Amino acid sequence: MSRFWSPLVQSLTPYVPGEQPKLSNLIKLNTNESPYGPSPKALEAIRQAADDTLRLYPDPVSLGLRQAIAKRSGLTPDHVFVGNGSDEVLAHAFQAFFNHGEPLLFPDVTYSFYPVYCGLYGLPFETVPLDEGLRVRVEDFNRPNSGIVLANPNAPTGIALGLGDIETLLSAHPDRVVLIDEAYVDFGAESAVSLVSRYPNLLVVQTFSKSRGMAGLRVGFAIGDPALIEGLVRVKDSFNSYPLDRLAQAGAQAAYEDEEWLTTCVNKVVATRDMLSSALGALGFDVLPSCANFVYARHIDRDAASLAAALRERAIIVRHLKGPRTSSWLRITVGTDAQCTSLLDALKDILRRND
Ligand code: PMP
Repeated sequence: MSRFWSPLVQSLTPYVPGEQPKLSNLIKLNTNESPYGPSPKALEAIRQAADDTLRLYPDPVSLGLRQAIAKRSGLTPDHVFVGNGSDEVLAHAFQAFFNHGEPLLFPDVTYSFYPVYCGLYGLPFETVPLDEGLRVRVEDFNRPNSGIVLANPNAPTGIALGLGDIETLLSAHPDRVVLIDEAYVDFGAESAVSLVSRYPNLLVVQTFSKSRGMAGLRVGFAIGDPALIEGLVRVKDSFNSYPLDRLAQAGAQAAYEDEEWLTTCVNKVVATRDMLSSALGALGFDVLPSCANFVYARHIDRDAASLAAALRERAIIVRHLKGPRTSSWLRITVGTDAQCTSLLDALKDILRRND
């Protein structure tokens, strides 16, 4: 606390990201990064862009990247907004669309940055409990709101919602923005981008951090009706005209155009995820059906915090989230086959020793 802080800053409860330890010999399964990294074509594009032109500002509207993203979905660049990670895109969307006096709605168990943005922008919110199976029930969102935010697949559960349910929400709330955060969509859920041309109240947010293995480059984007995109641009141009630097624009565009790399990496992650889920089941874990690059698992009789601590002693880090409905669960990022096998060996050892 400092006397120099504004009352708003004093009131904030900031998001706490998963740790990024300096030790290189750790098996890092705590922040849902890709074990495979960026497309070699993206790395080459970044190298090419690292030249004397860095003295010039980048394209403030990232047109080349937006065109590449729009082309894939049969839309125009006016339907696409890009930002410094999807966290920034989400922040701008919260500020642009969710201040209508009524509470913003999102599930009680979801990405814990959402309430943080509400704190930053002074937005009232209400959480809607997931059902006993930790699934979203769209009927429960039928109450007055300023907007609805759903991660699909949800995080940290990994459970995906079908497009039918998303359409139900979009039709039930035509005067409110329904934001679908598709950070993990490429690992097995159906994208709502195909609904954008029919629903002017739909905003879909995606990222290069997970399936494209570029969390370090910080690029995210939103797809929606041009009026929504214009709202985001108004916020962006009142905040930072150049959210994406030259290297990020070049790297992200090349990455987006390399669909083959994306498919190869996603297929490997999905195969490892299925192996990991069934092996965890055999060790006595209850594992939710994941459509993401992580699994959410709880041991039938062992405490999650002590399991996470015992894994850490063996140089493996996973995410344990405190909270009434999450504290008995571990969120484990799907790494390589070798990393997941090390994790399973460590868990067998921990469970056998009872430590
Ligand atoms: N949405 C969800 C559901 C996430 O888990 C994350 C990653 N922490 C993000 C958005 C943000 O990802 P990024 O800012 O790296 O695009």
